[in-house]
Amino acid sequence: MAHILDGKQMAREIEQEIQIQADQFVQQTGVKPCLAAVLVGNDPASQVYVRNKQKACQRVGIESQLHRLEASISATELSARVAQLNADPLVHGILIQLPLPKQIAESAILDQVHPLKDVDAFHPDNVGRLVQGRPRFVPCTPHGVQQMLHRAGVEVAGKHVVVVGRSDIVGKPLALLLMQRDSTCGPTAANASVTICHSQSRDLATIARSADVLVAAIGRPAEIRADMVKSGAAVIDVGINRTESGLVGDVDFEAVKEVAGHISPVPGGVGPLTISMLLHNTISAATLQHVES
Ligand code: NDP
Repeated sequence: MAHILDGKQMAREIEQEIQIQADQFVQQTGVKPCLAAVLVGNDPASQVYVRNKQKACQRVGIESQLHRLEASISATELSARVAQLNADPLVHGILIQLPLPKQIAESAILDQVHPLKDVDAFHPDNVGRLVQGRPRFVPCTPHGVQQMLHRAGVEVAGKHVVVVGRSDIVGKPLALLLMQRDSTCGPTAANASVTICHSQSRDLATIARSADVLVAAIGRPAEIRADMVKSGAAVIDVGINRTESGLVGDVDFEAVKEVAGHISPVPGGVGPLTISMLLHNTISAATLQHVES
């Protein structure tokens, strides 16, 4: 049976490290690192995500601001709020909780976040830096996956990693991260041979079965079955799906854990690490802005 990767425990360890960095930043600058979250509308899942991020900030000594805005807000008004946060020297990181209402072009708003405050690493400037292997901020969920593998002792260097999903938030940046020459966790957590699959991939099962490390970032329950997993492979489940039986990932957990060598659960897997890496980026943003000011 697979070793279960405990994302909650790993997140607690990372938070301890971040708390020390936050304290040091306050001692050196007299200012508390600060993350501003922008939450538009009343989407229940978004409210839970933002609340969890705020609680995590509190635990490690990061100031958090919540900017709650009406679902009917215009693009001009939202843009004005982002400009205000960009200009505020006491705000170091800006998080725009997605999804945004239909009348707002998401990419236009995300592009407006100052690259030095872009703790989600969605700005083209930060994406470009990641592509070139010199990231300013590493995107939170991909970084969480990398940290999870590293802390579990699963090296990816030289191995075949299959990422199922090609979104700009998870699949694509994760593939870029794991194929680089080096990483925040050292070269053994990078240097992978990466294959990306998506809804148009032919014979997904065969490709998935050739993976030493299989990452599912699809958004459909039980899409990864036991017959798609090589014996002993590490399987990381990024998916979060709300079903009648509660929160589940993209992997058929009960069946796949009998085949895999390592497996991450949902909940309690990648989710907590995503938040840890957001805290990490907020400290980095505060440090960068302090150096540049
Ligand atoms: P998207 O919907 O943006 O992307 C899903 C990807 O899966 C697409 O590339 C899509 O292909 C592909 N896909 C869909 N169906 C199949 C299929 N049958 N076979 C193979 N590929 C398929 O989702 P996100 O990347 O934003 O999120 C993925 C999941 O991860 C979601 O459940 C989300 O809630 C979760 N998530 C979890 C986070 C965490 O912290 N744990 C953070 C962010 C997301 P195509 O491009 O062809 O449409």
